[in-house]
Amino acid sequence: MMGRVLDVPRAVAAVREVVGPSEFAPLHEPELTALEKQYVTECLDSGWVSYLGAFVDRFDQALARLCGVEHAVSVVNGTNALHLCLLVAGVETGDEVLCPTLTFVGTPNAVRYCGAEPHFIDSEPGSLGVDVPKLEEYLAVAVERRDDGSYNVQTGRRIAAIVPVHVFGHPCDLDPLQVLCERYGIAMVEDAAESIGSAYKGEPTGRHGRVAALSFNGNKVVTTGGGGAVLTNDAGLAARVRHLSTTARIGNGYFFEHDEVGFNLRLPNLNAALGCAQLDRLPDMLARKRTLAERYAEALSKVSGVTFCQEPAYARSNYWLNAVLVEGPGTESRDAFLEATNAAGLGTRPAWTLMHTLPMYNTQPAMRVDGAIELARKLVNLPSSPALVAPPSFVPSAG
Ligand SMILES: *Cc1c(COP(=O)(O)O)cnc(C)c1O
Repeated sequence: MMGRVLDVPRAVAAVREVVGPSEFAPLHEPELTALEKQYVTECLDSGWVSYLGAFVDRFDQALARLCGVEHAVSVVNGTNALHLCLLVAGVETGDEVLCPTLTFVGTPNAVRYCGAEPHFIDSEPGSLGVDVPKLEEYLAVAVERRDDGSYNVQTGRRIAAIVPVHVFGHPCDLDPLQVLCERYGIAMVEDAAESIGSAYKGEPTGRHGRVAALSFNGNKVVTTGGGGAVLTNDAGLAARVRHLSTTARIGNGYFFEHDEVGFNLRLPNLNAALGCAQLDRLPDMLARKRTLAERYAEALSKVSGVTFCQEPAYARSNYWLNAVLVEGPGTESRDAFLEATNAAGLGTRPAWTLMHTLPMYNTQPAMRVDGAIELARKLVNLPSSPALVAPPSFVPSAG
């Protein structure tokens, strides 16, 4: 319910009702079962623990199938996946890359790794992602279209790419964004780190941009301990990612030859084994995460001063992290809610500190980001582990 002051005790009780009587409910815990143990043991028994091995191939193929793309290349983490995406999308030293200020620091960091400058853009409450209508208005005045691309009229730098982020698993509005990208000659690179299993208008996220990045960090929906992947339909770009992430080694028998400065970023087989088990169980985990989101939506609908963040009408979200917006002119209600929930063993947390306010990014080019400022002030993430909803086979033991 909007427009009223948060009833903190009722809000805490609603979260507690959904979470159940656990002593401490972390924000997002990996779910590791006998299947993960079995695959990792198989991997150890095979002796192939490094980046060559059957589980890596199987994991890459399963990812490509799941995400509806021709090619997936797994790497050691999501930030490096995004760095590789930006490099193969043509981002060069001195370029600018549009990205939301409401995101994890990995997004602008990957831009900086390319020697390029993050240029921050605003977000909207429906998806928590890029505010496309505001971006369209902004580009019309902030950018000059030339034959070879679009340039920031203030800095003179080329705008090489845009990185939409599917925040907490909610897909942002990709179709009108794609229209803008075509109009301005800007490459779209999806940061799908949080949205594995989410769909935009019936199609998996991660297949709309020229390339996309996934993350398999320990707190994400699918984990490999640490890991990430690059997705693309372009065989040339996939080959380039494989080459760059395998020290740019050229296949020449037992000779070690490299044709440029590459990176050592391939995902080890041991981690891929964990990932294969997680992907086998993903449909089940997604179904339970969806049930959890429905329970939160229902329980919180009776509490004044707080709004549960539903998936946008055009999308299906993986509900990686459930989120609410706490109403109020300041942050007092939000802070009271954060304090009361954490004191009660409910691991809630605020949104990221906005990127354009961090010391290394507070002088970057940026549009007005009022929407993101308001969201960052109101957002609270709720405990979202799939284990908070028992699998159908789960039978509580007596005592
Ligand atoms: C997790 C995440 C990343 C980076 O992934 P790591 O695997 O932690 O490097 C990038 N962008 C967003 C939006 C993320 O949530």
